[in-house]
Amino acid sequence: MEISFDKIGTSPKPFNLVLNDVTFSGKLSKVDFNTVKLDGEINGDLKVCCDRCGKDFVTTIGQPIGLDLSRKEIQNKDNLDIIEFLDGTIDLEYILQSEIDSIKSLYHYCQKCDGIEDFEVEI
Ligand SMILES: [Zn+2]
Repeated sequence: MEISFDKIGTSPKPFNLVLNDVTFSGKLSKVDFNTVKLDGEINGDLKVCCDRCGKDFVTTIGQPIGLDLSRKEIQNKDNLDIIEFLDGTIDLEYILQSEIDSIKSLYHYCQKCDGIEDFEVEI
């Protein structure tokens, strides 16, 4: 799902994207000529690998996401809350995929290893 910077105004534009069992929803609004603010959340079930026994299992995720999207090159590369889209097109699937990758890169323990019935990943 791609949205052009030019199609986003100061009034928030809602979006909803589903990838496998994960839903990415929220609003996009223009902050200034080169910056769009993303205010959203990721919810759903994600297959991860247990870091203790190596078994795949499904974990429920639910987390807010706040990002600035810029079509200008960012000077401060340490700020991970800004993503560059230099061609002026926002790729929501790319954002969702990188959020999923960063969740997957965290430590996860399956129910058996964690010993908790209702296991949620807290970020
Ligand atoms: Zn395990």
